[in-house]
Amino acid sequence: MVDSFHNSKKTHSVQYRLNQLRNVYFALKDNGDEIAEALEKDFSRSASETRNLELGTSLTEVVHTMSSLHKWVQPDKVPDLPQTMTCPVYVEKIPLGVVLIISPFNYPLLLSVGAIIGALAAGNCVVFKPSELTPNFSKLFTEIMSAALDDDIFYVVNGGIQETTALLEQKFDKIMYTGNNMVGTIIAKKAAETLTPVLLELGGKSPAFVLEDVKDKDLATVARRIAWGRFTNAGQTCVAVDYVLVHETKKAALVKHLVAAVEETLFKDVDENDTNYTHIIHDRAFENLVKILKQSKGRVVTGGTHNAAAKYIAPTILDNVNWDDSTMRGEIFGPLLPIITYSNLDEALANIRERCDTPLAQYVFTSGNTNRNKNKELDTILTRIRSGATVINDVMMHVPLTSAPFGGIGNSGQGAYHGIYSFRAFSHERTTIEAAFWNEFAMKARYPPYNEDKDKLFVASQRRHNGKVWFGRTGDVPKNGPSSLFTIWTGIAGFSAVLFYVGAIL
Ligand code: NAD
Repeated sequence: MVDSFHNSKKTHSVQYRLNQLRNVYFALKDNGDEIAEALEKDFSRSASETRNLELGTSLTEVVHTMSSLHKWVQPDKVPDLPQTMTCPVYVEKIPLGVVLIISPFNYPLLLSVGAIIGALAAGNCVVFKPSELTPNFSKLFTEIMSAALDDDIFYVVNGGIQETTALLEQKFDKIMYTGNNMVGTIIAKKAAETLTPVLLELGGKSPAFVLEDVKDKDLATVARRIAWGRFTNAGQTCVAVDYVLVHETKKAALVKHLVAAVEETLFKDVDENDTNYTHIIHDRAFENLVKILKQSKGRVVTGGTHNAAAKYIAPTILDNVNWDDSTMRGEIFGPLLPIITYSNLDEALANIRERCDTPLAQYVFTSGNTNRNKNKELDTILTRIRSGATVINDVMMHVPLTSAPFGGIGNSGQGAYHGIYSFRAFSHERTTIEAAFWNEFAMKARYPPYNEDKDKLFVASQRRHNGKVWFGRTGDVPKNGPSSLFTIWTGIAGFSAVLFYVGAIL
């Protein structure tokens, strides 16, 4: 594949990339039911949930990429003067080469397709490693994608730790890893040995704040959204609500509505035989979640039941949880929702900063203004907590966006993808200058021997910085930069001075 990338120009052709993406589109469209069935076998996920959460969003992402690629590949013109007056200067978007994409089990279609089509759209060859934890899905996906794509640009390696470790011995031009932070660290260390860039999509504890100003009439909606954000896919969602931070004045009412949302509507009467509720992916994860539940000092207000044979854990809400609880030690990644009550927002934020900083997402519920500049508490939270994404008054709705970057910060990852951000993540932005020979007379000024005239040229070329500037030595620097009059005036003056001294030197 490496040879094929370097010896054949085919992935450089936009037409070729579009045709390959078209094949992916039809492969997904034609096999939607089979994909949903495979995931139902893998972890009892309902076919409807797969269609809603994964298939539709994946198809949208492919179509968006196909309809936008001709714009994304266009070189960006560089406006810098005076270089661009004598020759074209632009930024090309070139493929990186051969990239490795390692996917997790929890949304195996969505998280694989988004990454693969971004890499293909940017003109790369892809080695793809699906999760071994969804064997039915991974087998089917390998078959349909291998049939859809040319085998010299797309290759699947199935397997677990051993196979991934062997893969990491190869040199790639970029590695994208989606999964847990512990393995993310292994990947980053290994990649560092060969200076291979990485895109890491990791996890973390994403909080949902319910502020003091939330009105009673809004609480049922807040509770329903939080319950969906925690319990969908049995909590095995990277941007799930990991815990709730509710103001003490709203706690009792919120808990009542949360219990009602779970018991009366979203997960009414679910049990281990229910096909409307996903189960836990494997025994180790199940046992770990049960241990967290047993050790928790929180009060179970709904759920708490589990069945090892079915790897089923009921949607469980734990009230009166404190920061040292078992549920707060790491990302839960299962259907347990701890509720922490706060009275002082500053203290709550200090705890987040200290224990679970830089989450992948944060959710803030407020009945006040949703514009942070007009809502002091909201602004305080968004300023203090750096997160991969922020959603105000809802949860997880940033995931299907095709035109916004999806990615973490700090512990929750590095780099971002989706839509044009995937294209950029898998491209190199190469500055290109098409210089000419005719202007050599003007270039002479840069060559030694250096003398006083050349010093004057330097001063002239720096005129905008050293001579006339739009900011003083003290006071506030104007926020909007120089006025256009100033820019035009210094531009003309600076350029004439450069021409004058170039003339003098020649
Ligand atoms: P997983 O167990 O399916 O592992 C992910 C991938 O890592 C698999 O392909 C697996 O084979 C590989 N792997 C496992 N151990 C390895 C090792 N020692 N060396 C090399 N490769 C190895 O999934 P997971 O990691 O349990 O996924 C859940 C985690 O992923 C959660 O923390 C979740 O928040 C995070 N996640 C993040 C995103 C995101 O977009 N940021 C999306 C989904 C999941």
